[in-house]
Amino acid sequence: MSEQILCTCGTVLVEEVTPTGVRPLGAEQPIVFRRTTDYVVCSNCYESYNVVSLIERATSQETIDQLEAMAESAED
Ligand SMILES: [Zn+2]
Repeated sequence: MSEQILCTCGTVLVEEVTPTGVRPLGAEQPIVFRRTTDYVVCSNCYESYNVVSLIERATSQETIDQLEAMAESAED
């Protein structure tokens, strides 16, 4: 089980980071960052995060590595 990523407001933003994408809280399917403009929205404050913003919120190196790989494979 990977770490959760929290929004700046303290709400869980991403419940799980998988090798292919991130699963937002309550979602069944992960969001796959195919484009750099893809983003996750906080269910509480509606702040949006693209993959680069999520890297800044992640704390474990494993999660950061997975997110950086997603960022590299996303297209502009
Ligand atoms: Zn928030």
